[in-house]
Amino acid sequence: MKKNKQKHSLETTLIHGMNVSKKWDFSHHVVPPISSSCTFRLESTKRGALGFAEFAHHTDDAAISSRAPIYIYDRLGEPNKEVLEENLAAAENGDAAVTFSTGMAAVSAVLGCVTGTGDEIIAHNILYGCTYSLLTNWYPRYRILTKFVDMKNLLNIRRAITPKTRVIYFETPVNPTLELIDIQTIVNEIKQQNKKRPKGRKIYVIVDNTFASPFCQRPIEFGVDFVIASLTKNICGFGTDMGGVVVGPKWSYDVLLLYRKDYGGALAAKSAWPLLVYGLPSLATRMRHQMESAHAISTFLESDPRVAFVNFPGLKSFAQSDLAKKQMRDYDGKFAPGSLLYFVLKGKSPKQRHDKGEKFINFVAKNAYSITLAVSLGHIRTLIEHPSSMTHSAIPLDEQVRNGLEPGGIRLSIGLEKPSDIIQDLANALDQV
Ligand SMILES: *Cc1c(COP(=O)(O)O)cnc(C)c1O
Repeated sequence: MKKNKQKHSLETTLIHGMNVSKKWDFSHHVVPPISSSCTFRLESTKRGALGFAEFAHHTDDAAISSRAPIYIYDRLGEPNKEVLEENLAAAENGDAAVTFSTGMAAVSAVLGCVTGTGDEIIAHNILYGCTYSLLTNWYPRYRILTKFVDMKNLLNIRRAITPKTRVIYFETPVNPTLELIDIQTIVNEIKQQNKKRPKGRKIYVIVDNTFASPFCQRPIEFGVDFVIASLTKNICGFGTDMGGVVVGPKWSYDVLLLYRKDYGGALAAKSAWPLLVYGLPSLATRMRHQMESAHAISTFLESDPRVAFVNFPGLKSFAQSDLAKKQMRDYDGKFAPGSLLYFVLKGKSPKQRHDKGEKFINFVAKNAYSITLAVSLGHIRTLIEHPSSMTHSAIPLDEQVRNGLEPGGIRLSIGLEKPSDIIQDLANALDQV
Protein backbone atom coordinates (compact mmCIF):
# COMPACT_ATOMS: atom_id res chain seq x y z
CA MET A 1 0.00 0.00 0.00
CA LYS A 2 1.40 3.32 -1.08
CA LYS A 3 1.19 6.47 0.96
CA ASN A 4 -1.63 8.78 -0.08
CA LYS A 5 0.64 11.83 -0.18
CA GLN A 6 -1.22 13.72 -2.89
CA LYS A 7 -4.41 13.83 -0.84
CA HIS A 8 -6.53 11.87 -3.26
CA SER A 9 -10.28 11.83 -2.73
CA LEU A 10 -11.85 9.63 -0.06
CA GLU A 11 -13.41 7.63 -2.87
CA THR A 12 -9.93 6.59 -4.04
CA THR A 13 -8.74 6.10 -0.48
CA LEU A 14 -11.49 3.54 0.15
CA ILE A 15 -10.10 1.48 -2.73
CA HIS A 16 -6.41 1.73 -1.92
CA GLY A 17 -6.70 1.83 1.86
CA MET A 18 -5.36 4.16 4.48
CA ASN A 19 -1.66 4.56 3.74
CA VAL A 20 0.52 1.85 5.23
CA SER A 21 -1.22 0.30 8.20
CA LYS A 22 0.70 0.07 11.44
CA LYS A 23 -1.70 -2.70 12.28
CA TRP A 24 -0.10 -5.16 9.96
CA ASP A 25 2.71 -5.32 7.42
CA PHE A 26 1.09 -6.49 4.21
CA SER A 27 2.89 -4.02 1.97
CA HIS A 28 3.59 -6.67 -0.69
CA HIS A 29 -0.03 -7.73 -1.04
CA VAL A 30 -2.20 -5.94 -3.56
CA VAL A 31 -5.27 -7.12 -1.64
CA PRO A 32 -5.07 -7.27 2.17
CA PRO A 33 -4.70 -10.96 3.14
CA ILE A 34 -7.36 -12.75 5.20
CA SER A 35 -6.28 -13.25 8.76
CA SER A 36 -8.29 -15.76 10.72
CA SER A 37 -6.79 -16.59 14.07
CA CYS A 38 -8.70 -16.49 17.36
CA THR A 39 -5.55 -16.37 19.42
CA PHE A 40 -2.05 -15.03 18.86
CA ARG A 41 1.38 -16.43 19.70
CA LEU A 42 3.10 -14.60 22.53
CA GLU A 43 6.75 -15.60 22.60
CA SER A 44 7.20 -14.71 26.28
CA THR A 45 5.08 -13.94 29.32
CA LYS A 46 6.65 -10.50 29.20
CA ARG A 47 5.14 -9.86 25.76
CA GLY A 48 1.81 -11.28 26.97
CA ALA A 49 1.80 -8.99 30.00
CA LEU A 50 2.70 -5.99 27.84
CA GLY A 51 -0.13 -6.83 25.42
CA PHE A 52 -2.68 -6.91 28.25
CA ALA A 53 -1.28 -3.72 29.77
CA GLU A 54 -1.50 -1.90 26.43
CA PHE A 55 -4.96 -3.14 25.43
CA ALA A 56 -7.40 -0.19 25.36
CA HIS A 57 -4.69 2.14 26.67
CA HIS A 58 -4.07 4.27 23.62
CA THR A 59 -2.06 6.96 25.29
CA ASP A 60 0.13 9.07 23.06
CA ASP A 61 3.02 6.93 24.19
CA ALA A 62 5.32 6.76 21.17
CA ALA A 63 6.42 3.26 22.14
CA ILE A 64 2.89 1.96 21.50
CA SER A 65 2.08 3.97 18.41
CA SER A 66 5.34 3.32 16.58
CA ARG A 67 4.93 -0.44 16.19
CA ALA A 68 2.27 -3.01 15.36
CA PRO A 69 -0.03 -3.74 18.31
CA ILE A 70 0.51 -6.88 20.37
CA TYR A 71 -2.44 -9.01 19.35
CA ILE A 72 -3.74 -11.36 22.03
CA TYR A 73 -7.20 -12.66 21.20
CA ASP A 74 -9.72 -11.93 18.41
CA ARG A 75 -12.35 -10.29 20.66
CA LEU A 76 -9.79 -7.73 21.82
CA GLY A 77 -8.53 -6.96 18.35
CA GLU A 78 -7.05 -8.58 15.25
CA PRO A 79 -5.63 -7.29 11.96
CA ASN A 80 -8.60 -7.57 9.55
CA LYS A 81 -10.98 -5.72 11.87
CA GLU A 82 -8.46 -3.03 12.70
CA VAL A 83 -7.56 -2.28 9.10
CA LEU A 84 -11.30 -2.09 8.33
CA GLU A 85 -11.79 0.22 11.32
CA GLU A 86 -9.13 2.64 10.05
CA ASN A 87 -10.95 2.83 6.73
CA LEU A 88 -14.41 3.21 8.30
CA ALA A 89 -13.17 6.09 10.46
CA ALA A 90 -11.84 7.75 7.28
CA ALA A 91 -15.11 7.07 5.40
CA GLU A 92 -17.16 8.83 8.11
CA ASN A 93 -14.53 11.52 8.67
CA GLY A 94 -14.27 10.56 12.35
CA ASP A 95 -11.35 10.06 14.76
CA ALA A 96 -11.83 6.40 15.66
CA ALA A 97 -13.99 3.44 14.69
CA VAL A 98 -14.74 0.20 16.53
CA THR A 99 -16.57 -2.62 14.72
CA PHE A 100 -19.14 -5.01 16.17
CA SER A 101 -20.79 -8.25 15.13
CA THR A 102 -23.97 -6.53 13.88
CA GLY A 103 -25.54 -3.10 13.61
CA MET A 104 -27.56 -3.79 16.77
CA ALA A 105 -24.38 -4.70 18.66
CA ALA A 106 -23.03 -1.29 17.64
CA VAL A 107 -26.23 0.51 18.74
CA SER A 108 -26.17 -1.19 22.15
CA ALA A 109 -22.41 -0.56 22.51
CA VAL A 110 -22.55 3.19 21.96
CA LEU A 111 -25.59 3.56 24.23
CA GLY A 112 -24.03 1.23 26.81
CA CYS A 113 -20.86 3.35 26.87
CA VAL A 114 -22.53 6.72 27.45
CA THR A 115 -25.52 5.88 29.68
CA GLY A 116 -26.04 4.38 33.14
CA THR A 117 -28.90 3.71 35.55
CA GLY A 118 -31.12 6.76 35.99
CA ASP A 119 -30.12 8.42 32.73
CA GLU A 120 -32.55 9.41 30.00
CA ILE A 121 -32.39 9.10 26.23
CA ILE A 122 -34.37 11.26 23.83
CA ALA A 123 -35.05 9.48 20.54
CA HIS A 124 -37.02 10.27 17.40
CA ASN A 125 -40.48 8.72 17.44
CA ILE A 126 -39.80 6.44 14.48
CA LEU A 127 -36.77 4.18 14.72
CA TYR A 128 -35.52 0.93 13.28
CA GLY A 129 -37.71 -1.72 14.98
CA CYS A 130 -34.96 -3.47 16.96
CA THR A 131 -33.55 -0.16 18.23
CA TYR A 132 -37.06 0.74 19.41
CA SER A 133 -37.35 -2.66 21.08
CA LEU A 134 -33.94 -2.24 22.78
CA LEU A 135 -35.06 1.11 24.23
CA THR A 136 -38.53 -0.02 25.30
CA ASN A 137 -38.08 -3.70 26.26
CA TRP A 138 -34.57 -3.79 27.74
CA TYR A 139 -33.32 -0.40 28.91
CA PRO A 140 -36.20 0.15 31.37
CA ARG A 141 -34.78 -2.87 33.26
CA TYR A 142 -31.71 -0.76 33.99
CA ARG A 143 -33.93 2.26 34.67
CA ILE A 144 -32.72 4.01 31.53
CA LEU A 145 -35.82 5.64 30.11
CA THR A 146 -36.39 6.93 26.59
CA LYS A 147 -38.63 9.81 25.61
CA PHE A 148 -39.81 9.56 22.00
CA VAL A 149 -40.41 12.91 20.33
CA ASP A 150 -40.83 14.25 16.81
CA MET A 151 -37.35 15.62 16.15
CA LYS A 152 -38.43 17.48 13.04
CA ASN A 153 -39.42 20.18 15.50
CA LEU A 154 -36.54 21.35 17.68
CA LEU A 155 -38.95 22.60 20.37
CA ASN A 156 -39.91 19.00 21.13
CA ILE A 157 -36.30 18.16 21.97
CA ARG A 158 -35.86 21.32 24.04
CA ARG A 159 -38.95 20.45 26.08
CA ALA A 160 -37.87 16.85 26.67
CA ILE A 161 -34.38 17.64 28.02
CA THR A 162 -33.90 17.20 31.78
CA PRO A 163 -30.77 17.05 33.95
CA LYS A 164 -30.91 13.27 33.42
CA THR A 165 -30.69 13.45 29.61
CA ARG A 166 -27.48 11.97 28.17
CA VAL A 167 -28.32 11.09 24.58
CA ILE A 168 -30.15 12.49 21.56
CA TYR A 169 -30.63 9.57 19.16
CA PHE A 170 -32.04 9.55 15.64
CA GLU A 171 -31.80 8.16 12.11
CA THR A 172 -31.84 10.44 9.09
CA PRO A 173 -33.29 9.67 6.60
CA VAL A 174 -35.80 8.13 8.99
CA ASN A 175 -36.38 4.44 8.35
CA PRO A 176 -38.74 3.82 6.55
CA THR A 177 -40.57 7.11 5.85
CA LEU A 178 -37.41 8.85 4.53
CA GLU A 179 -38.28 12.06 6.37
CA LEU A 180 -35.15 13.99 7.32
CA ILE A 181 -33.98 15.35 10.65
CA ASP A 182 -31.88 18.51 10.60
CA ILE A 183 -28.49 17.41 11.95
CA GLN A 184 -26.90 20.87 12.16
CA THR A 185 -29.84 22.45 13.99
CA ILE A 186 -29.84 19.72 16.65
CA VAL A 187 -26.06 19.85 17.08
CA ASN A 188 -26.19 23.65 17.56
CA GLU A 189 -28.95 23.35 20.15
CA ILE A 190 -27.15 20.63 22.14
CA LYS A 191 -23.90 22.63 22.07
CA GLN A 192 -25.78 25.51 23.72
CA GLN A 193 -27.41 23.15 26.24
CA ASN A 194 -24.05 21.57 27.10
CA LYS A 195 -22.59 24.96 28.05
CA LYS A 196 -25.08 25.07 30.92
CA ARG A 197 -24.51 21.53 32.12
CA PRO A 198 -22.05 20.31 34.76
CA LYS A 199 -18.97 18.42 33.58
CA GLY A 200 -19.69 14.74 33.13
CA ARG A 201 -23.35 15.39 32.29
CA LYS A 202 -22.84 16.36 28.67
CA ILE A 203 -25.50 15.30 26.19
CA TYR A 204 -24.22 13.28 23.22
CA VAL A 205 -25.78 13.39 19.77
CA ILE A 206 -25.80 9.97 18.13
CA VAL A 207 -26.90 9.38 14.52
CA ASP A 208 -27.64 6.06 12.85
CA ASN A 209 -26.21 6.64 9.35
CA THR A 210 -27.14 3.22 7.93
CA PHE A 211 -29.66 4.51 5.38
CA ALA A 212 -27.54 7.18 3.71
CA SER A 213 -24.13 5.48 4.06
CA PRO A 214 -21.00 7.62 4.54
CA PHE A 215 -20.86 8.20 0.78
CA CYS A 216 -24.08 10.23 0.92
CA GLN A 217 -23.86 11.83 4.37
CA ARG A 218 -21.26 12.29 7.11
CA PRO A 219 -23.00 13.49 10.29
CA ILE A 220 -19.68 13.94 12.13
CA GLU A 221 -18.90 16.83 9.74
CA PHE A 222 -21.93 18.61 11.25
CA GLY A 223 -20.59 18.05 14.76
CA VAL A 224 -22.43 14.96 16.03
CA ASP A 225 -20.51 12.97 18.64
CA PHE A 226 -21.11 9.43 17.38
CA VAL A 227 -22.23 7.77 14.18
CA ILE A 228 -23.35 4.17 14.20
CA ALA A 229 -24.07 2.08 11.13
CA SER A 230 -25.14 -1.40 10.25
CA LEU A 231 -22.38 -2.63 7.94
CA THR A 232 -24.80 -5.35 6.83
CA LYS A 233 -26.54 -2.85 4.54
CA ASN A 234 -24.97 -0.34 2.12
CA ILE A 235 -21.37 -0.90 3.19
CA CYS A 236 -21.41 -4.68 2.70
CA GLY A 237 -23.61 -4.14 -0.35
CA PHE A 238 -23.74 -7.76 -1.46
CA GLY A 239 -25.81 -9.13 1.41
CA THR A 240 -23.25 -11.71 2.48
CA ASP A 241 -22.00 -10.48 5.86
CA MET A 242 -23.31 -8.83 9.01
CA GLY A 243 -21.49 -6.13 10.93
CA GLY A 244 -21.80 -2.85 12.79
CA VAL A 245 -19.59 0.11 13.56
CA VAL A 246 -19.39 2.99 16.00
CA VAL A 247 -17.39 6.00 14.83
CA GLY A 248 -16.62 8.57 17.50
CA PRO A 249 -14.11 10.89 19.15
CA LYS A 250 -10.64 9.71 20.12
CA TRP A 251 -11.49 9.41 23.83
CA SER A 252 -14.25 6.89 23.10
CA TYR A 253 -11.99 4.39 21.31
CA ASP A 254 -10.68 2.63 24.43
CA VAL A 255 -14.10 2.63 26.13
CA LEU A 256 -15.69 1.01 23.07
CA LEU A 257 -12.91 -1.59 22.89
CA LEU A 258 -13.46 -2.49 26.56
CA TYR A 259 -17.21 -2.71 25.99
CA ARG A 260 -16.69 -5.07 23.03
CA LYS A 261 -14.21 -7.19 25.02
CA ASP A 262 -16.68 -7.67 27.91
CA TYR A 263 -20.07 -7.78 26.15
CA GLY A 264 -18.53 -9.86 23.41
CA GLY A 265 -20.15 -8.67 20.16
CA ALA A 266 -16.95 -8.76 18.11
CA LEU A 267 -17.08 -8.68 14.31
CA ALA A 268 -15.85 -11.98 12.87
CA ALA A 269 -12.54 -11.59 11.02
CA LYS A 270 -14.09 -13.60 8.18
CA SER A 271 -16.77 -10.88 7.88
CA ALA A 272 -14.36 -7.96 8.26
CA TRP A 273 -12.42 -9.08 5.19
CA PRO A 274 -15.19 -8.89 2.53
CA LEU A 275 -16.34 -5.55 4.00
CA LEU A 276 -12.79 -4.25 3.56
CA VAL A 277 -12.02 -5.82 0.20
CA TYR A 278 -15.38 -5.70 -1.66
CA GLY A 279 -17.78 -3.53 0.35
CA LEU A 280 -16.00 -0.26 1.03
CA PRO A 281 -14.07 -0.09 -2.26
CA SER A 282 -17.28 -0.48 -4.31
CA LEU A 283 -19.49 1.74 -2.12
CA ALA A 284 -19.18 4.93 -4.19
CA THR A 285 -19.81 3.19 -7.52
CA ARG A 286 -22.77 1.24 -6.20
CA MET A 287 -24.35 4.24 -4.49
CA ARG A 288 -23.97 6.46 -7.55
CA HIS A 289 -25.63 3.91 -9.82
CA GLN A 290 -28.38 3.09 -7.31
CA MET A 291 -29.14 6.78 -6.72
CA GLU A 292 -29.55 7.40 -10.43
CA SER A 293 -31.92 4.43 -10.70
CA ALA A 294 -33.82 5.56 -7.57
CA HIS A 295 -34.36 8.89 -9.25
CA ALA A 296 -35.81 7.32 -12.40
CA ILE A 297 -37.97 4.86 -10.44
CA SER A 298 -39.35 7.47 -8.03
CA THR A 299 -40.18 9.75 -10.97
CA PHE A 300 -42.07 6.88 -12.61
CA LEU A 301 -44.00 6.04 -9.42
CA GLU A 302 -44.83 9.68 -8.74
CA SER A 303 -46.35 10.12 -12.20
CA ASP A 304 -48.63 7.09 -11.81
CA PRO A 305 -52.20 8.05 -10.85
CA ARG A 306 -52.54 4.96 -8.62
CA VAL A 307 -49.74 6.14 -6.31
CA ALA A 308 -50.73 8.51 -3.47
CA PHE A 309 -47.22 9.80 -2.79
CA VAL A 310 -43.53 8.90 -3.08
CA ASN A 311 -40.87 9.96 -0.60
CA PHE A 312 -37.39 10.16 -2.11
CA PRO A 313 -35.09 12.97 -0.98
CA GLY A 314 -33.95 13.48 -4.59
CA LEU A 315 -37.41 14.36 -5.94
CA LYS A 316 -38.29 18.02 -6.56
CA SER A 317 -41.58 17.38 -4.75
CA PHE A 318 -39.79 16.12 -1.61
CA ALA A 319 -41.10 18.19 1.31
CA GLN A 320 -37.65 18.70 2.86
CA SER A 321 -35.76 19.17 -0.38
CA ASP A 322 -33.65 22.09 0.94
CA LEU A 323 -32.57 20.14 3.99
CA ALA A 324 -31.78 17.11 1.81
CA LYS A 325 -29.50 19.28 -0.35
CA LYS A 326 -27.83 20.69 2.75
CA GLN A 327 -26.92 17.49 4.53
CA MET A 328 -26.85 14.72 1.93
CA ARG A 329 -23.67 15.27 -0.07
CA ASP A 330 -21.14 12.86 -1.52
CA TYR A 331 -17.35 13.11 -1.15
CA ASP A 332 -17.22 15.67 -3.98
CA GLY A 333 -19.98 17.78 -2.47
CA LYS A 334 -22.57 16.61 -5.02
CA PHE A 335 -26.17 16.10 -3.91
CA ALA A 336 -26.52 12.43 -2.83
CA PRO A 337 -30.11 11.53 -1.87
CA GLY A 338 -29.52 7.79 -1.27
CA SER A 339 -31.09 4.72 -2.82
CA LEU A 340 -34.28 4.15 -0.81
CA LEU A 341 -37.87 4.99 -1.69
CA TYR A 342 -41.02 4.94 0.36
CA PHE A 343 -44.43 5.10 -1.28
CA VAL A 344 -48.11 4.62 -0.58
CA LEU A 345 -50.85 3.52 -2.97
CA LYS A 346 -54.07 5.49 -3.22
CA GLY A 347 -57.00 4.29 -1.11
CA LYS A 348 -59.93 5.86 0.68
CA SER A 349 -59.07 4.61 4.18
CA PRO A 350 -55.90 3.48 5.98
CA LYS A 351 -57.34 -0.04 5.85
CA GLN A 352 -57.80 0.15 2.07
CA ARG A 353 -54.29 1.56 1.57
CA HIS A 354 -52.93 -1.21 3.78
CA ASP A 355 -54.73 -3.94 1.81
CA LYS A 356 -53.61 -2.48 -1.52
CA GLY A 357 -50.00 -2.26 -0.31
CA GLU A 358 -50.13 -5.87 0.79
CA LYS A 359 -51.64 -7.02 -2.50
CA PHE A 360 -48.99 -5.08 -4.45
CA ILE A 361 -46.10 -6.55 -2.44
CA ASN A 362 -47.49 -10.07 -2.70
CA PHE A 363 -47.81 -9.72 -6.46
CA VAL A 364 -44.21 -8.48 -6.65
CA ALA A 365 -43.00 -11.32 -4.43
CA LYS A 366 -44.58 -13.88 -6.73
CA ASN A 367 -44.05 -12.36 -10.17
CA ALA A 368 -41.32 -9.71 -10.29
CA TYR A 369 -37.98 -11.05 -11.50
CA SER A 370 -35.95 -7.96 -10.57
CA ILE A 371 -37.49 -7.25 -7.14
CA THR A 372 -37.27 -9.51 -4.07
CA LEU A 373 -39.52 -9.41 -1.02
CA ALA A 374 -36.98 -9.33 1.79
CA VAL A 375 -35.95 -7.09 4.66
CA SER A 376 -32.50 -5.42 4.69
CA LEU A 377 -31.42 -2.72 2.25
CA GLY A 378 -28.44 -1.32 0.40
CA HIS A 379 -28.15 -4.62 -1.47
CA ILE A 380 -27.13 -5.01 -5.12
CA ARG A 381 -30.55 -6.62 -5.58
CA THR A 382 -33.67 -4.48 -5.36
CA LEU A 383 -35.58 -5.36 -2.19
CA ILE A 384 -39.17 -4.56 -1.28
CA GLU A 385 -40.79 -4.82 2.14
CA HIS A 386 -43.80 -3.79 4.22
CA PRO A 387 -42.42 -1.88 7.26
CA SER A 388 -45.67 -1.76 9.22
CA SER A 389 -45.96 -5.54 9.51
CA MET A 390 -42.25 -6.40 9.19
CA THR A 391 -39.24 -4.22 10.17
CA HIS A 392 -41.30 -1.83 12.31
CA SER A 393 -43.82 -4.26 13.79
CA ALA A 394 -42.18 -3.75 17.24
CA ILE A 395 -43.83 -0.30 17.26
CA PRO A 396 -47.53 -0.70 18.22
CA LEU A 397 -49.86 0.00 15.25
CA ASP A 398 -51.63 3.00 16.84
CA GLU A 399 -48.25 4.54 17.61
CA GLN A 400 -47.11 3.92 14.01
CA VAL A 401 -50.16 5.78 12.69
CA ARG A 402 -49.76 8.62 15.21
CA ASN A 403 -46.13 9.09 14.14
CA GLY A 404 -46.82 9.16 10.41
CA LEU A 405 -45.96 5.59 9.50
CA GLU A 406 -48.65 4.62 7.00
CA PRO A 407 -49.95 1.06 7.49
CA GLY A 408 -49.88 0.74 3.68
CA GLY A 409 -46.36 2.17 3.22
CA ILE A 410 -44.00 0.28 0.93
CA ARG A 411 -40.21 0.50 1.22
CA LEU A 412 -38.06 -0.11 -1.82
CA SER A 413 -34.26 -0.40 -1.70
CA ILE A 414 -32.90 0.04 -5.20
CA GLY A 415 -30.20 -2.35 -6.42
CA LEU A 416 -27.91 -2.51 -9.44
CA GLU A 417 -30.41 -3.95 -11.92
CA LYS A 418 -31.27 -1.98 -15.05
CA PRO A 419 -33.82 0.62 -13.89
CA SER A 420 -36.14 -0.05 -16.83
CA ASP A 421 -36.51 -3.66 -15.66
CA ILE A 422 -37.42 -2.56 -12.14
CA ILE A 423 -39.94 -0.07 -13.57
CA GLN A 424 -41.49 -2.79 -15.76
CA ASP A 425 -41.93 -5.08 -12.74
CA LEU A 426 -43.49 -2.23 -10.72
CA ALA A 427 -45.81 -1.29 -13.60
CA ASN A 428 -47.03 -4.91 -13.84
CA ALA A 429 -47.77 -4.92 -10.11
CA LEU A 430 -49.60 -1.57 -10.29
CA ASP A 431 -51.89 -3.06 -12.93
CA GLN A 432 -52.95 -5.71 -10.42
CA VAL A 433 -54.13 -3.47 -7.58
C1 LIG B 1 -30.50 -2.97 9.81
C2 LIG B 1 -30.46 -1.76 10.61
C3 LIG B 1 -29.91 -1.77 11.90
C4 LIG B 1 -29.41 -3.02 12.56
O1 LIG B 1 -28.36 -3.61 11.87
P1 LIG B 1 -28.04 -5.21 11.91
O2 LIG B 1 -26.75 -5.31 11.20
O3 LIG B 1 -29.18 -5.90 11.24
O4 LIG B 1 -27.95 -5.58 13.36
C5 LIG B 1 -29.89 -0.57 12.58
N1 LIG B 1 -30.36 0.57 12.05
C6 LIG B 1 -30.89 0.62 10.82
C7 LIG B 1 -31.38 1.91 10.27
C8 LIG B 1 -30.96 -0.54 10.05
O5 LIG B 1 -31.50 -0.49 8.83
